[in-house]
Amino acid sequence: MNEERAPAASVETLLEALPYIRDFHGRTVVIKYGGAAMREEELREGFATDVVLLKYVGLNPVIVHGGGPDITSYMERLGMEVRFVEGVRVSDPETVEVAKMVLLGKVNADIVSRLNRHGQPAVGLSGDDGALFQIRPHVDAERVGLVGEVERVDVDVLNHIAEDYIPVVASAGADREGNSYNVNADAAAGKVAAALQAHKAIFLTDVAGWLADAEDPASLISRASVDEVTGAMGGVAGGMRPKLGACVEAIRGGVQSAHIIDGSKPHSLLLELFTNAGIGTMVTP
Ligand code: ADP
Ligand code: MG
Repeated sequence: MNEERAPAASVETLLEALPYIRDFHGRTVVIKYGGAAMREEELREGFATDVVLLKYVGLNPVIVHGGGPDITSYMERLGMEVRFVEGVRVSDPETVEVAKMVLLGKVNADIVSRLNRHGQPAVGLSGDDGALFQIRPHVDAERVGLVGEVERVDVDVLNHIAEDYIPVVASAGADREGNSYNVNADAAAGKVAAALQAHKAIFLTDVAGWLADAEDPASLISRASVDEVTGAMGGVAGGMRPKLGACVEAIRGGVQSAHIIDGSKPHSLLLELFTNAGIGTMVTP
């Protein structure tokens, strides 16, 4: 590893992690993976090793992922128009088709095979598998089209898989009639965390966390209550909006804390979970 580092520092780090490892043993952590942390090969590998380590030390990691940049790049290759409304991808039937293919055929398969290679077998699934998600149209369907909201999560299939494997969930699914929808991965992760009564929900993104001023990286809000988040939500735009909404959903559903962290920083997941220096934004009741 890092040879310049004094051995004492490594031991310190291990000792610092010990109480967290003890506290987290057997606990479920839902990790929303997407965006920036997926963009570079090195970060993808780092994410896989981190998740595998969580499983080895006795946590129960459940991954929920999007695939925004990949979906966008495939849509562009096919000459399709890419549009977002308040952080949500505007979706027609062709968009849903491409999103589903890219999410399952590419992004999900890639995460699963990486986890496998790093020593913890994973199983990939979408909202359709084991009837995991029941979807209903988004409240703003007029503007966003075939975007769905997760109406119900049936955790049976996740619990079965999690006994032996790491579940990796692609955020897509269908309604009662079998119509497919594009689902925002943050929203899906919030619902999954609540349904599993997870200990924590962690959202990896490409900024330090929730910023009071989206343009100012120094304006990080490191802690916020659900009331503070809902009170400020009107002024939040872009992809941070569904993310904060998902934090609120998770906490109201019984999750102890929700964290938004910078997935473009190597091993941010481990730093957040096992060191005293909290990073990013933590939302609590
Ligand atoms: P992800 O793949 O993590 O879901 P998104 O692009 O959907 O990525 O959401 C993260 C983006 O939200 C940031 O890159 C930033 O551009 C945008 N954003 C808008 N408002 C804020 C804010 N107040 N704080 C932080 N990020 C914000
Ligand atoms: Mg997003």
